[in-house]
Amino acid sequence: ALVVRNRLGSSGKWERAVTIVKELEEQCGTPTSKLKLVAEAMEVEMHAGLASEGGSKLKMLISFVDNLPTGDEKGTFYALDLGGTNFRTLRVQLGGNGKGIDKIEQKEVSIPPHLMTGSSEELFDFIATSLAKFISSEPEEFHPPPGRQRELGFTFSFPVRQTSVASGTLIKWTKGFSIEDMVGEDVVGRLTKSLEKIGLDMRVAALVNDTVGTLARARFGNQDVIAGVILGTGTNAAYVERAQAIPKWQGPLPNSGAMVINMEWGNFVSSHLPLTEYDKALDAESLNPGEQIFEKLISGMYLGEIARRALLKMAEEADFFGDTVPPKLKTPFIFKTPDMSAIHHDTSSDLEVVGDKLRDVLKIDDTAVETRKIVVEVCDIVATRGARLAAASMVGILKKIGRDTVKDGGEQRTVIAVDGGLFEHYAKFRNCLESTLKELLGDEVAETIAMEHSNDGSGIGAALLAASHSQYLGLTES
Ligand code: BGC
Ligand code: MG
Repeated sequence: ALVVRNRLGSSGKWERAVTIVKELEEQCGTPTSKLKLVAEAMEVEMHAGLASEGGSKLKMLISFVDNLPTGDEKGTFYALDLGGTNFRTLRVQLGGNGKGIDKIEQKEVSIPPHLMTGSSEELFDFIATSLAKFISSEPEEFHPPPGRQRELGFTFSFPVRQTSVASGTLIKWTKGFSIEDMVGEDVVGRLTKSLEKIGLDMRVAALVNDTVGTLARARFGNQDVIAGVILGTGTNAAYVERAQAIPKWQGPLPNSGAMVINMEWGNFVSSHLPLTEYDKALDAESLNPGEQIFEKLISGMYLGEIARRALLKMAEEADFFGDTVPPKLKTPFIFKTPDMSAIHHDTSSDLEVVGDKLRDVLKIDDTAVETRKIVVEVCDIVATRGARLAAASMVGILKKIGRDTVKDGGEQRTVIAVDGGLFEHYAKFRNCLESTLKELLGDEVAETIAMEHSNDGSGIGAALLAASHSQYLGLTES
């Protein structure tokens, strides 16, 4: 069906374009057997990462969260959520005594791109100022009593070597961030400096990854939740591990017997991963070559960019969009994952949305329906691979904690909390993720496993963790 004559080119060229798509499809292939190998490799690396520091590319970072919020937390707490394209400030009011969350207020600001690659001082001054603005508009009733500090959960969605639940140093930047002077530095110390500079008296009570926040948010009220997964600009997971299964943990065994592990699965690599020439070139030209290889196959920052690279090759080698290569198509990261999603979901017979996107984003006018169909095909191949790999890595976690079989005659339930734009807004990605999970687990096991959208979990979860690590616990109002 793909071999249709292109009105723009000779049939030989058209065939060349079709061949490029077929090659892409083959190289991106994720048959069940391959995904099972990926899940197994993930489990093996999880063991290695837990055994010793640096034991695996999977960092398996200790979060110092050994107790998740219960629902009894009480009071007003704040959160800062930094890690994607936007940054949010939140105020969360907790009712106490199992009442849960009374009220959430939040403000979202997009981060000026130059701050993502500038100096840490500029970035954190910007964050502190935004937080101060958020607080200054706050009604009197929320002002803390004299002598009491406001407390903050800080969601910082990058790999951090924690030194306590409220401190840690940045291991490296990911996604679009690259601020040299910050690597190896104390994240909370850096924020506190900027807060002090503008005279904002606040204490960071918890420093958490977004996956840990997502897990905490969903677990609050549902004990079956065992993992938090982010499928957004970046990708990662955190899960509840038995403290005794963490050989590298030197500290005392927590009373709960459990510890939340931030896997940093975005940095997973395996010979089983289906890597194409486009992935390799993308990686080599990225801000962090050789790092986050798994993330670069799956997450929202990269899917559109992979598709763009394939389309560019088709334009260059097969005149796919006409005699000249559309200049915009040469611009890295111009084709965003939301554009790709819109194209992928176009159900109109003449693929109108596809035509609009190609015109508006890439300045390619008047595309034929046959051309549009192939563009959809490219998006489908790239998104399908990402979603299927994400499902395989979830299975890796389930295997690691023994939830990949039916227990207690099917009574045991397991919930994976998920957040992020790919899960929330890219329906085909999400559907593929869900059906692949079933395919890998089999119907009987799949019946006992559910994915749940933990909306805005990362920020709210951080506020909850600030509450459960408050310096005033047990000291104040009941
Ligand atoms: C970061 C993780 C984060 C994930 C999702 C990755 O790039 O390394 O820490 O959880 O993105 O935001
Ligand atoms: Mg949301």
